[in-house]
Amino acid sequence: MFENLSERLSGVFDKLTSQGSLSEDDVKTALREVRVALLEADVSLPVARDFVKAVQERATGQAVTKSVTPGQQVVKIVHDELVNVLKGDTEDTELLKVDNPPAPILMVGLQGGGKTTTTAKLAKRLKEKQGKRVLMASLDVYRPAAMHQLEVLGQQIGVDTLPIVAGQKPADIAKRAKQQASMGGYDVYMLDTAGRLSIDDELMAEVEAVRDVTNPRETLLVVDGLTGQDAVNTAENFNDRIGISGVILTRMDGDGRGGAALSMRAVTGKPIKYVGLGEKMDAIEEFTPDRIAGRILG
Ligand code: GDP
Repeated sequence: MFENLSERLSGVFDKLTSQGSLSEDDVKTALREVRVALLEADVSLPVARDFVKAVQERATGQAVTKSVTPGQQVVKIVHDELVNVLKGDTEDTELLKVDNPPAPILMVGLQGGGKTTTTAKLAKRLKEKQGKRVLMASLDVYRPAAMHQLEVLGQQIGVDTLPIVAGQKPADIAKRAKQQASMGGYDVYMLDTAGRLSIDDELMAEVEAVRDVTNPRETLLVVDGLTGQDAVNTAENFNDRIGISGVILTRMDGDGRGGAALSMRAVTGKPIKYVGLGEKMDAIEEFTPDRIAGRILG
């Protein structure tokens, strides 16, 4: 679909006469191509700009090694810098904080992003990989079908769900989940909040109320990785209002280039923790900056 960045850059450098080291002009010309590649991969404009500036500072004056072409060398610098940004601070490396049972995990996001599916995928992972006893609860009081969906997924993966009681407010369901998790000896309880088609005040106030009664150890934003700039705006909004601890990007099995990951990391400063790779309950993986960097570069 796209000519990849290495090929583009070789084209650029073929026309240049740099010798010995990467000159400022060589780097500038190459980075114009890098910027286009980033934008095509759905990285937002201000993030692409800042990123290119950082790479420019790093690359200018670097000696050109004999074993690679200048184009390949710039690609490597860009790749390494992408990994750096995507990786973020080392203190974020712990995937999920689920100590002090029962640990609450709050799942937030817009409707259709994959929140309910991801809640169940993570519950299955916590159970199978970490031997945790997990309780899941749906707080989607507007869509009984969503509550039922979580219940069905729970049965499918062998994870308990909080019994559905009609007419309760989300914060009350959250309290009930907390109680049941304590009394029932669960290690983790996961709260699948209601999604809306767009962010509104009511949605945020509701999530805040749930947050305040449970004090979550993790607040994970689930967003569709194919929605580019919309995903970034969603992340910024949720982070400002609720305070998220991490992001899960879904639909990364699609052919999106994944630039939203870079923008989201840069804009919110919060780590991408997992990526969703399909509809099946095992289709989730830990986020690996290296793989996304390769994908963004095409
Ligand atoms: P919610 O409204 O945010 O709770 O979204 P759902 O969990 O109901 O998911 C909406 C649709 O997206 C469902 O058909 C899911 O099977 C699908 N889905 C969720 N995650 C992924 C993913 O990583 N890849 C793909 N291809 N589909 C997904």
